[in-house]
Amino acid sequence: MRETIRNIAVLGSTGSIGRQTLDIIAEYPTLFRAWLLVARSSADLLIAQARLMRPHMVIIADEQYYDYVRDALEGTGIEVATGSAAIAQAVTAPEIDTVVTAMVGYSGLESTIAAIGAGKRIALANKETLVAGGTVVMEMARKMGVPILPVDSEHSAIFQCLLAANGNPLKRIHLTASGGPFRTWKKEDMAKATAKEALRHPQWDMGAKITIDSATMMNKGFEMIEARWLFDTAPEDIRIVVHPQSIIHSMVEFEDGAVIAQMGHPDMREPIQFALGYPARLSLDNRKLDFAELGQLTFEAPDFDRFPCLGLAFDAISRGGNIPCAMNAANEAAVYAYLKDKVRFYDIPDIISKFMEETAFIASPTLEDILATNDEVFSKAKDFIG
Ligand code: MG
Repeated sequence: MRETIRNIAVLGSTGSIGRQTLDIIAEYPTLFRAWLLVARSSADLLIAQARLMRPHMVIIADEQYYDYVRDALEGTGIEVATGSAAIAQAVTAPEIDTVVTAMVGYSGLESTIAAIGAGKRIALANKETLVAGGTVVMEMARKMGVPILPVDSEHSAIFQCLLAANGNPLKRIHLTASGGPFRTWKKEDMAKATAKEALRHPQWDMGAKITIDSATMMNKGFEMIEARWLFDTAPEDIRIVVHPQSIIHSMVEFEDGAVIAQMGHPDMREPIQFALGYPARLSLDNRKLDFAELGQLTFEAPDFDRFPCLGLAFDAISRGGNIPCAMNAANEAAVYAYLKDKVRFYDIPDIISKFMEETAFIASPTLEDILATNDEVFSKAKDFIG
């Protein structure tokens, strides 16, 4: 197949996607090697991963754990570094082929930009990167001729479906949503729901931030924006459909009305292997579909009333500029407060809406504008929440 091993940098190696990425790398030692592992603060897991995967380098972003990680890996020959500048530097190493961006929230933007600038293939698992900085990231990727391979299951599905386009234009994207833990809940019960209840996600096993985003359906709003950038599709041509079984991971529709779907049991290792191995498909020890056993697949319209974050996302992308960035920053502050039981469920969209209104509009933001908008809105939202 390929003659050389792909050296992979995994940003966010201790998170849910990062761990599954390492599983895939470990399963195919003749295809991939973990070259760089980056974690924010999960020092013990990072150390264990480093001992197992033997990367060239590890970075613990939070400087207070640096000595601990360095001492633990002494004598292994593995380089240890710390800080965000070290991450942006390390991803540009000539040995690295692909950078998997799987860190939580917006923290991925600067290192993603650095990796694109160095011409690395990006396996994009961090949707906030495109929500906040879509114009900047896509323009830079085009300029550098860098492929952005989606790891998000929906976008991997759309990417796979588009392989059937054969040069024909895409008419519409049908973006599927599980509906999250509150799909069948009444609005008044959702208003009282705790973070603990929201964290019981029915289909996908994910981190806490994304699970709350899934409960508010802000995650689907983010994914709409992510699709808008990845596939250069107008937001009005992206239709969200709730599909509780999460078997269809998304669909594309062509001019003749033909719809192509990509399916499978929910398992993030599938989109991860596709992004890492592309254009090859790797054999995977996952559960295969048995349609007779499935019986039926069901679909519902999304409820914009119970899930106001969906409408906010469409509003943010239609206003454009730095507003999606403001939306993302306010959401991040609100979700962390909700996880600590400091705000209630419907305070999340209220906080987002407030800061989308109050943010000074910049029509064509630069990277610096995006970073400034994010920092300003995040800290103001934090102060506002108190
Ligand atoms: Mg997804």
